[in-house]
Amino acid sequence: MTPPRTVISAAASVAAALVVAGCAAPAGGGAGGGGAGEDGGLDVVTSAYPLQWVSERVAGDAARVSSALPPGTDVHEAELAPTQALALSDADVVVTLPGLQAGVDAALDASPPERVVDVTDAAAVVDDDLHFWGDPLRLADVGDDVAEGLAAADPNGASGYRARAGELRADLQALDERYATALAPCRGAVLVTSHEAFGYLADRYGLEQVGVAGLDPSVEPTPARLRAATAAVQDAGVRTVYFETEATDAVTRALASALGTGTAVLDPMETAPADGADLLETAEANLAALEAGLSC
Ligand SMILES: [Zn+2]
Repeated sequence: MTPPRTVISAAASVAAALVVAGCAAPAGGGAGGGGAGEDGGLDVVTSAYPLQWVSERVAGDAARVSSALPPGTDVHEAELAPTQALALSDADVVVTLPGLQAGVDAALDASPPERVVDVTDAAAVVDDDLHFWGDPLRLADVGDDVAEGLAAADPNGASGYRARAGELRADLQALDERYATALAPCRGAVLVTSHEAFGYLADRYGLEQVGVAGLDPSVEPTPARLRAATAAVQDAGVRTVYFETEATDAVTRALASALGTGTAVLDPMETAPADGADLLETAEANLAALEAGLSC
């Protein structure tokens, strides 16, 4: 009557995750997980690329950081494989923004991990728009939040996590200053984007975002949105319509063609760059595209 070994280990793993989730595990961990892993490093799983990038910066060499999503998948649409859902429940720490990735939310509900860092408050998200990473200073605040979450799970590493969050903040403040200086002449300019992923960037630097496809790029633009984008292009003398790298954007392309504007790429920074570029490099490329294409 002995079940196959693989069934036992899978069931034991889920049971261990449930037990750990239901009680306060001792710091430092014991058999079955809790705190730092057996080799001394935390296992951190994140639900979106900006959170992965921040967590990697804060973790340094003291923790292993991975993404729950397959590489290159769209955060709005990705579906989790069972192994990815299991990686979430087995993690020492999950860093997530509820609402951004439905598959991650469902997996965390079904089998909660030991510790979740919910960055909603640190990111200071407004209304339904979760694309907070367009604002470097919100990213810095999330870095501090992640550092505290990792420190709680691994108190021995606390000073390192906090120091690296401080270095991250310095890099992001420098990025913010470059954006603020470069875009100061553009205050009030209209930013027409296919995917409405730049609301926080627009707010910080005084731009007015007009999204053709809305917050979720997989939803087709409505006639009302197309009319609003057309009016914005005509009224504000918009020279450039911005596309995201990974979307097909047929409707927005047709709009740009019909209105005679130029086009350029603005990366929503939702997907890890295939070329291994750092988020800061992508943000710099976005700034160059804004300087070249905005009417200011
Ligand atoms: Zn998005």
